[in-house]
Amino acid sequence: MPKISVLPKQLAELIAAGEVVERPASVIKELTENSIDAGATAITVEIKGGGILFMRVTDNGCGIKKEEVKTAFLRHATSKIVRESDLDSIATLGFRGEALAAICAVSKVELLTRREEDELGTCYKIEGGNETFFDESGCAFGTTFIVRDLFYNTPARMKFLHKDVYEGNVIADVVEKIALSHPEIAVKFIRDSKTVFATNGDGKLSSAVYTVLGREIASGFIEVNNELENIKVTGFVCKPIYCRPKRNAQYFFLNGRSVKSVTAAQALEVAYKNSAMVGKFPSCVLHIEVPFDSVDVNVHPTKTQVRFSNEKPVFEAVYVAVKNAIEKGDTRPQFTEKKQLKFSAFQRMTAEDYRQSVITEPVVVAEKPQIKEPPKFSGVLNDFSFVREEKKEEPQIIPETKQQELPKETTEKPINNDIRYVGEAFKTYIIVEKGDSIFFIDKHAAHERIIFEKLKKSEVPQSQALLLPVTVKLDAEQYNTVLQNNELLLKSGFEIEDFGNMNVIVRAIPATLTGEDTANVLVEAADGLKNGIGVTSERLDNIYHTVACKAAIKAGFVTSTKEQLYLAEQVLSNNDIMYCPHGRPVAYEMKRRDFEKQFGRIQ
Ligand code: ADP
Ligand code: MG
Repeated sequence: MPKISVLPKQLAELIAAGEVVERPASVIKELTENSIDAGATAITVEIKGGGILFMRVTDNGCGIKKEEVKTAFLRHATSKIVRESDLDSIATLGFRGEALAAICAVSKVELLTRREEDELGTCYKIEGGNETFFDESGCAFGTTFIVRDLFYNTPARMKFLHKDVYEGNVIADVVEKIALSHPEIAVKFIRDSKTVFATNGDGKLSSAVYTVLGREIASGFIEVNNELENIKVTGFVCKPIYCRPKRNAQYFFLNGRSVKSVTAAQALEVAYKNSAMVGKFPSCVLHIEVPFDSVDVNVHPTKTQVRFSNEKPVFEAVYVAVKNAIEKGDTRPQFTEKKQLKFSAFQRMTAEDYRQSVITEPVVVAEKPQIKEPPKFSGVLNDFSFVREEKKEEPQIIPETKQQELPKETTEKPINNDIRYVGEAFKTYIIVEKGDSIFFIDKHAAHERIIFEKLKKSEVPQSQALLLPVTVKLDAEQYNTVLQNNELLLKSGFEIEDFGNMNVIVRAIPATLTGEDTANVLVEAADGLKNGIGVTSERLDNIYHTVACKAAIKAGFVTSTKEQLYLAEQVLSNNDIMYCPHGRPVAYEMKRRDFEKQFGRIQ
């Protein structure tokens, strides 16, 4: 082994710098964080060549006193903490005193800084850790850092950098997050001489979101604002219909710092479980504020993953805030112009095209449909006030001459004066007219959601005793789950007793169920309980899903006009009924205006 010796200072600095400055974006992160800590209300970031060639960060913060300029570049030099106890209540983004030392070790730095009370500012130049210039200088209040030729003296690190465009994109991401984390700061980003964005610093998150993420994302956002046990969650989440195929627009900020938090991300997604389609992910800009002592900020500066001293309350707070926002702020999906009905092919076809299409397309002779009697729904459609008609509905065939006549039932006085029943398609979609819109309602999804909402709202469990208690055999996992969650099941209307040997006795079931399928419902409820992260609110929702799904009328089942109107009325009068518990939309709205556009009546 060679002799042991202490590393020369310069080499030690280079090694230490490697930990803080990984790439140009790390420099921008450190410099902009310093600007925020300096109380700036305006920060401008300019880069060239992906930041490798040139980076400039200008702020209007407090500036640095001439006598302290050189000190600021020493390792472990900071103005943000003084004693050990300060570590427990850190409110600044920096506190390690490492960034400037690290940056100047691997680049050429120029600093211009001036405090408001000083007549002249200071200019300081330092290259690879060696001072090249230091003097007074005329300059504006605040601080400007220029960083050139990053990694010029460490070719090995230089090799690890990606193309300029990639490095520039990573920087853009950092600057976007700075702008979103501090809407009270006017943040401007200039890339290769072009202004990419400039927030106005008016303090409104909505303004920053609009500027940074663009109109399309901003217009699909709904507001979040909730506080639960000292944890405040504010910001925006997307309407469920705008969930995207990737998780690439989820921004979380903890006490003003951009973070990655597995817990918060999970809570967000679980909150969408009954609203967003499977495989689509919500976008969000969420600010979480917790007491400073409940989070470990002593994470490494390049790592943004945070840990909370207790993760569960954070999960609950984010989940509840997002869930409330979705329930309050969402609007029904509409047939937009992008999803136009496909009539246009006909309109544009020339006579020749038409003949061609007739000749080339094989003629399909439809098989005579076998008329099977559709299954009937035997459950309870609404909450006991409505007596189901026992009359069997025949598939209606309206003779041609009578087509103008309305089916008898629809001429009855409608339940709700606003809603006019138009019909039912495919024994699945109820069609109604209301005001200037036509609504297509998926009757299973609608009914499922109605039941789900009722279960959630009922304070006393709606339960029915079974005449003959049912014994259900479960597997070990289901058995344990059921017993562990007995209280929640009781709250949902189940009365279950342990019968030993992996058997349970079910004495009562939720009132909405028919009792035909008790064993299956319980097995499914147990399986549902195992999914997800396991907080109480989510587990209860899972039981409600199972019950609602089982109790709801199925697509393809016969339902009377009255029943359909009942469903339509519930759906259209209640904004909670927007999606089925699996996230499919319950109803689509088509505005008269769009309809008339399709027919060319209006432009
Ligand atoms: P830290 O931010 O952890 O304190 P840095 O190395 O990033 O360490 O900065 C060292 C010190 O330099 C800071 O504590 C601060 O006093 C001063 N400083 C750095 N940037 C600025 C700025 N933009 N405006 C005012 N002071 C600054
Ligand atoms: Mg710093």
